[in-house]
Amino acid sequence: MVRVGIGYDAHRLVDGRPLILGGVRIDHPRGLEGHSDGDALLHALTDALLGAVAAPDIGALFPPGDAEWKGAESRLFLERALVIVGERGYRVSSIDVVVIAEAPKLAPHWPAIREHLSKLLGIEPAAVGLKATTADGMGFTGRGEGIAVQAVVTVST
Ligand code: MG
Repeated sequence: MVRVGIGYDAHRLVDGRPLILGGVRIDHPRGLEGHSDGDALLHALTDALLGAVAAPDIGALFPPGDAEWKGAESRLFLERALVIVGERGYRVSSIDVVVIAEAPKLAPHWPAIREHLSKLLGIEPAAVGLKATTADGMGFTGRGEGIAVQAVVTVST
């Protein structure tokens, strides 16, 4: 039995925050705002994992107003989602991610992000799809106001 989950997230880029994507700190003048560490990639991935098994979404499991999650490492959300996937009898087969951002260039960071996600998810690096695109100057991502991420996950019994 194979199931698919989709996730999407977007966060605002602000001064004075580290940029963390996929659990990896990236050298950039601005970082993602958020109640947690703002890691939109891990948030989109977490929602895709939860969606694959029709579990409540990340906002329901980890309410943004909850003091417990203030400044939290988003890895904690992903790990909780993985437990839920396992409890429902599935394991992760593969993921595919698109980051929509004008900057920074992410290609140099894919190896580190791929290795990190592969370890977090317990899958081969070859099962971790990572790519980036710009929005050709259009909309909030195009103006560099924020970064958006789409993620798809397949899980199987
Ligand atoms: Mg988020």
